[in-house]
Amino acid sequence: MIDKFGRKVNYLRLSVTDRCDLRCNYCMPKKNTFLYPKSEILSLNDLKRITRILISLGIKKIRVTGGEPLIRKDIGEFLEYICSLKQKGLEEVLITTNGTQLKKYAKKISDLGIKKINISLDSLNSKKFKFLTNGGNLTEVLNGIYEAKKNKLDVKINTVLLKDFNENEILKMVKWCADNNFKQTFIEVMPVGKLNLQRSNQFLPVSFAKEKIKKEFGLDPIFFKSNGPSRYFKTNKLSNIIGFISPLTDNFCSTCNRIRVTSNGVLYPCLGDNGSTNLVDLLKFDDNDISKKLKNVIFNKPEKHLFSINDKTYINNRYMNTTGG
Ligand code: SAM
Ligand code: SF4
Repeated sequence: MIDKFGRKVNYLRLSVTDRCDLRCNYCMPKKNTFLYPKSEILSLNDLKRITRILISLGIKKIRVTGGEPLIRKDIGEFLEYICSLKQKGLEEVLITTNGTQLKKYAKKISDLGIKKINISLDSLNSKKFKFLTNGGNLTEVLNGIYEAKKNKLDVKINTVLLKDFNENEILKMVKWCADNNFKQTFIEVMPVGKLNLQRSNQFLPVSFAKEKIKKEFGLDPIFFKSNGPSRYFKTNKLSNIIGFISPLTDNFCSTCNRIRVTSNGVLYPCLGDNGSTNLVDLLKFDDNDISKKLKNVIFNKPEKHLFSINDKTYINNRYMNTTGG
């Protein structure tokens, strides 16, 4: 599928649930009034049908995300299903998880032939981790991460940069990732969803982390291509690979190849735009009609997002757990 700006769209980020066992304070509000009623969450059959149609249209990579994807009860069956779609043109299945369920799932994920896993971790300090995630247990997450490593999954640690929270842990996290042979990405916090805090008070540009790492370990740009919008570097002293995602300070929309589907079946061609298509309404039609409509939706993918950390966000009622970060 090609959009009207000539971008090839071949990457789906699929949020299989909006529920989560953590409550990161930059991602979603404390009170769960923003969650969809359970009856609106896509059934396993609808998830299977949507992915099948999108693959027939040219989707080559699917990232399963959430909320926390591994707390969905039938996630094992769904992962088995999409891994079987490799015979139908799907090239890669990826997962983004907070790590809490990896002790249970790492082996299964690896046995299914899934190679890469992104695990979110914003602090290596258990008190801070508990505070940020509203009750999360760092030891449980670290055990999950080590289980993924033991099962030979290619681990990438995703860290959202947060002012006055983890800026003094950047070097420690780089060293820990290097020691464990994990790739790593630092991400700028995005104004997706209205929260009880000022986004600009949390915001830290990736340039801050880059400078700090460069000073301590040396940092050179490398040509390394992943599935996302990271720009990659290698440290001189530790030889580990670090990516930086800068939606606010260095827009990468001109190379965007992705679409997102929420757990209640809404397709967003752009994370930072409110334009969407309700797939549940389309499911009444046959696969051919759905395909025609979706080609048109994707052709009209917005040129770019209009995030600004100082403006009042215009993505008010949609949080990252919904759209799948
Ligand atoms: N629960 C899983 C996890 O945390 O990895 C998957 C879903 S989570 C929404 C996916 C990613 O989005 C995580 O790496 C998280 O840190 C990131 N994220 C959530 N809210 C964000 C925000 N406002 N700005 C930038 N990244 C955000
Ligand atoms: Fe849950 Fe992931 Fe959002 Fe944290 S970032 S609250 S783990 S969905």
